[in-house]
Amino acid sequence: MLPRLHELTETQSAYLAYLDEVRLAGFEGDICPDYAQRTVLATDNSIYQILPQAVVLPRHAEDVQILTRLAATDRWQAIVLSPRGGGTGTNGQSLTDGLVVDLSKYLNQILEINADEGWARVQSGVVKDQLNHALKPFGLFFAPELSTSNRATIGGMINTDASGQGSVLYGKTRDHVLELDTVLLSGDRHHSQPIDADTLKRLSAGTDRIGQIHATVDDVYQRRQADIIAKFPKLNRCMTGYDLAHIYDQGQFNLNNIICGSEGTLGFVVEAKLNLVKIPKLAALVNVFYSSFEASLRDAQTLLGAQPSSIETIDSTVLGLAREDIIWHSVSQFFDAQGQFIDGINLVEFTADSEAELERNISNLTERLQEQTGQTGKNIGYAIARGHQQVQLLWSMRKKAVGLLGNAKGEARPVPFVEDTAVPPENLADFIMEFRAVLDKHKLRYGMFGHVDAGVLHVRPALDLKDEAQFKLVRQITDQVVALVSKYNGLLWGEHGKGVRSEFSPTFFGDLYPELQQIKRAFDPFNQLNPGKIATHQDKIPLLRIDEVGTRGELDRTIAVKSWTQFGSGMYCNGNGACFNWDPNDAMCPSFKVTQDRRQSPKGRASLIREWLRLLSEKNVDTTALSERQKRRVPLLHFIPRAWNSLKQRQGQYDFSHEVADSMAGCLACKSCTGQCPIKVDVPEFRARFLQIYYGRYLRPLKDYFIGSLEFIIPVLAFAPFKWLYNTAMSLNPVKRVLRDVAGMVDSPLIHSLNFRRELRRRKLFFADPILLDGLSASERERSVILVQDAFTSFFETPVVLDIIDCLQELGFRVWVMPYAPNGKPLHVHGFLHLFAWVAKRNQRKLQRLANTGIALVGIDPSMTLSYRAEYVKYVKLAVPPVYLVQEFLAQHKERLAAQAHRFNTGSVKLLGHCTEKTNAPAAMKDWTEIFAMLNQTLNHEAVGCCGMAGTYGHETRNRTNSENIYKLSWQAVVENQPSEMLLSTGYSCRSQVKRLHQKTLAHPLQYLLQCLK
Ligand SMILES: Cc1cc2nc3c(=O)[nH]c(=O)nc-3n(C[C@H](O)[C@H](O)[C@H](O)COP(=O)(O)OP(=O)(O)OC[C@H]3O[C@@H](n4cnc5c(N)ncnc54)[C@H](O)[C@@H]3O)c2cc1C
Ligand code: SF4
Ligand code: SF4
Repeated sequence: MLPRLHELTETQSAYLAYLDEVRLAGFEGDICPDYAQRTVLATDNSIYQILPQAVVLPRHAEDVQILTRLAATDRWQAIVLSPRGGGTGTNGQSLTDGLVVDLSKYLNQILEINADEGWARVQSGVVKDQLNHALKPFGLFFAPELSTSNRATIGGMINTDASGQGSVLYGKTRDHVLELDTVLLSGDRHHSQPIDADTLKRLSAGTDRIGQIHATVDDVYQRRQADIIAKFPKLNRCMTGYDLAHIYDQGQFNLNNIICGSEGTLGFVVEAKLNLVKIPKLAALVNVFYSSFEASLRDAQTLLGAQPSSIETIDSTVLGLAREDIIWHSVSQFFDAQGQFIDGINLVEFTADSEAELERNISNLTERLQEQTGQTGKNIGYAIARGHQQVQLLWSMRKKAVGLLGNAKGEARPVPFVEDTAVPPENLADFIMEFRAVLDKHKLRYGMFGHVDAGVLHVRPALDLKDEAQFKLVRQITDQVVALVSKYNGLLWGEHGKGVRSEFSPTFFGDLYPELQQIKRAFDPFNQLNPGKIATHQDKIPLLRIDEVGTRGELDRTIAVKSWTQFGSGMYCNGNGACFNWDPNDAMCPSFKVTQDRRQSPKGRASLIREWLRLLSEKNVDTTALSERQKRRVPLLHFIPRAWNSLKQRQGQYDFSHEVADSMAGCLACKSCTGQCPIKVDVPEFRARFLQIYYGRYLRPLKDYFIGSLEFIIPVLAFAPFKWLYNTAMSLNPVKRVLRDVAGMVDSPLIHSLNFRRELRRRKLFFADPILLDGLSASERERSVILVQDAFTSFFETPVVLDIIDCLQELGFRVWVMPYAPNGKPLHVHGFLHLFAWVAKRNQRKLQRLANTGIALVGIDPSMTLSYRAEYVKYVKLAVPPVYLVQEFLAQHKERLAAQAHRFNTGSVKLLGHCTEKTNAPAAMKDWTEIFAMLNQTLNHEAVGCCGMAGTYGHETRNRTNSENIYKLSWQAVVENQPSEMLLSTGYSCRSQVKRLHQKTLAHPLQYLLQCLK
């Protein structure tokens, strides 16, 4: 049996006492010393893992002041505080063994937008894309760009002085910071903006922390001005992290430039006033192809002559990874190199305010490209993306590239440690060739891309950090790269900040490093703010070193290989944070979006499962054996120990497994993570494996049995007297109450009054029988299709199924209906894995017998249909025959559709896609557009996130509120503001959620097409 996990690294008593005092002082945010929260915030996107003592989530700036004011008192000078935003740092910037202060959950309001004057005031937890979304109606945007724009916070951007694509035109974050509100360690809230000499003098004269800071920073500048000018490279990416070169800006003293890039080592930024830039009216992007990466790099320098707004280079490894990702469907149209192999590309962007200017710029470039096409070292072709929407598609692919670099097969995975070097752009090609030689010498795999206009290279060599020998390469390679960047007058940290790499601060800052220490001391005299990074306050206190900080690999190494493999669908999460996507209209992780709790995200769940396996491995528990044992268990015999353990749980007995279970319980099993995570982390899969083992020790909730068995009992309930009994009972308030409070289920759907069999008979349709189908002629078989039923549509939405059948028949197909068989997906979702495997094997045989007839199998509900190709294949040894989504099937029969087109009236509608389908079968969404276009219809895809129902999630009592709140995030406004006849939906869950929360009925696309028939 699964053992209880309770011997954990506890929060130090000093921190608990400090947190008690914080609470007493009136702190209103969340204080979380729980092991799950600490585990989830123990990582960022780096190779490091450091367990904090606790996590606090301030509700407002006053909470931060309470934390700092107390920490600065004599009693608590050993307390360490590290600010955290989106946690997307690649070098351990926000990791600490002290207290994580997460500013992202509550301090995320856009406070003011002044479009006339071109600025916005925001709290520091606002996500960059969130801000730009709000600014779009004003034609403005916050210009500094970064790949993580959908999850990185303004506070994080300021503190890493973030920049990325377009930096040559728009500069870095620092260039757009007008004013900052920073909570200093003293508890003071300091408002900083460029100040004149008189104000500086006045402030410097003060004896308080603010006075000391101003006096110190100015003194450093006055004494070392010449050295600073000589030392700081004249690069686009400068040398932030106490940017001494910009203490004075246009003659004014500007403390903001010291705070920008300071990585939380000087104070907590709580508010910022930011400069805004006009969105260029027009944009176009020329995607230039090369047969070698070196050629693309070298040519980029000449392309700069066309004065584009930015140029980015990508190599074939990264392109290969993009090809395997969902993102490729949106950009493949821009990669037609007429069959030639593309080993590198240059993405060259132009922006302009008039068509004429844009066209002039494009033709300047393309004329030159055409002259050179096919010459040695020159392009082999190009494609043009026009308009913001198309341009954005290519930038989205480029943005995803860093994440994709983490998605390789095998145990050696691309890892960040030398991933953002910057050299003068003219040195970049030579630098990269030498960099490649370093990596090739170690026989490492890697992919590369970069901002060639700014001289920045992104590369992640593939290492298995569970292997101690490979971990040693981190030091060896870094040292070699440090020497290489110095040779080329560059920087080790061109974009992603320093973090643990602060070890090299003294190397790069040279004899200016002591001045950094002076500044650190003025802000943080006892080294309490994110210590060990950028600079320490005293010589004798060392900076962190790249190979002396706890790594993930070190901990992962202790997980038993069998368990690692069994839970492989979650083990490779690299923390890049794509699952923290802010956009409510994006399908990615509804459970995180609605809770804003990182434990309720794919990354959170993957982190917890890894820690759970590590703790079990420490106890020599074999999880594969635990799972096998479940198969042979006699339920009644094991009821008593499980009941006993559950009783103890009720009495408050701690078990880390409960924290893991709680995180898993919030998951909708929507599979958006599986499709959209660059690493393809598949939460529903490892969640099911966890639940199976967890419920070997504890009693399952009743609802699990109800949901798991529903598919099996529903055919019986659908028979006449039972149907009436079931539907009547489900409509009675006392029954509803019992179901809600005892069984944990709400709003159970009613079985439809139509008798499916009778309706089939009425239409003279038959159930698919292999013998009958074998007897069909070739032409009859050719126009036949077998409809694979699912419990939800067949029994609860019978008219939808019948309409789909009618529509297919109208389109010229002969429909056969596969006799109903439970699909088993609910069993998988709830971790009844042995039963699921049994059902899957049984169904595989049935499906195979029908598939052998040569007739296509087609499912109706996307999530049930996709389970044949996603879940079944993991549990059935034999090949599972394809079961197509209905649109995939129709897309294969375009001639038949064309022949029927004249029978359809024209129309225009919108489709609200199902999450699983959108994220796991992206081509299928395009199929709908094409099918509708062929039948005289305009189909627009409405951008919506998850509807909040996701199978039975929304029917579980504990999820009812979250389900509705998820619906409110994106679906509510769309459904409310448009007539329901205009909206179509493919998912059973989505339709039933709309019916439940809006009392509106959305049609399936084929129901709509049926109505369009003349
Ligand atoms: C896949 C990937 C791609 C990336 N691409 C880019 C890129 O193109 N350009 C780029 O610049 N970076 C990039 N990064 C790095 C990272 O996203 C940026 O550094 C980003 O600015 C961090 O923001 P965050 O909110 O996640 O901050 P966090 O990682 O949470 O914190 C970063 C640092 O800021 C400090 N901090 C955070 N909030 C505050 C606050 N309110 N007050 C004081 N200190 C604070 C933290 O202590 C920490 O030192 C990438 C990272 C990943 C994983
Ligand atoms: S689950 Fe995927 S998207 Fe989320 S942090 Fe992990 S690897 Fe990134
Ligand atoms: S399945 Fe959906 S809810 Fe669950 S972790 Fe993945 S994205 Fe989040």
